[in-house]
Amino acid sequence: MNVLLLGPQGSGKGTQAKRIADEYGAPHIATGDMLRATIQSDTPLGRKLKPILDSGRLVSDDLMIELIRNRLEEADAANGFVLDGFPRTWAQAQALDSMLREIGRDLNVVFALQVPDDVCTQRLLKRAREEGRADDTPEVIAERLGTYHRETEPLVDHYRTSGNLVGIHAGRSINEVFSEIQVALEQVAVR
Ligand code: AMP
Repeated sequence: MNVLLLGPQGSGKGTQAKRIADEYGAPHIATGDMLRATIQSDTPLGRKLKPILDSGRLVSDDLMIELIRNRLEEADAANGFVLDGFPRTWAQAQALDSMLREIGRDLNVVFALQVPDDVCTQRLLKRAREEGRADDTPEVIAERLGTYHRETEPLVDHYRTSGNLVGIHAGRSINEVFSEIQVALEQVAVR
């Protein structure tokens, strides 16, 4: 099962992606987590990435496409994956389409998690208090949500046209959202 989640920061995308991955035994591929791990490793690349993530801007398409290409080639992704945080731009979506075409695979389902900005902001500010992420400040949150609407949200239409898009009302509790996701996944599985 190849699953993709789209949604603004604070939509619960990471939480839901983890649950899907656990339930279906597929790796959770979260580009934000991968980038933060690289920053922790304190390499030249990590030092280059840190100010970009801290400011809420996007990392270059070339770097991200390379990162995902390598990750999808790893053995654990051979039977499926739950992709979270990629693609975020039109160029990344085009690259993913052609990568999947090359290896003869398809996205079985694309979930678009929908939550109003004010709810996202409140959730991210709560996460800031709990986890202290450098990019969860009010200014950077506004920057990231703006980037989402400008660069990433148009991809929802791209996947709507290519099929398999499922919209999810993600303003509810984690369990309620996951139940809706499960229903959709079961429909895909029996297809
Ligand atoms: P996230 O944990 O998904 O909110 O990602 C944290 C940060 O990592 C983002 O604000 C970007 O700076 C960077 N990032 C993650 N995924 C991507 C991507 N696909 N393209 C560009 N930048 C990304």
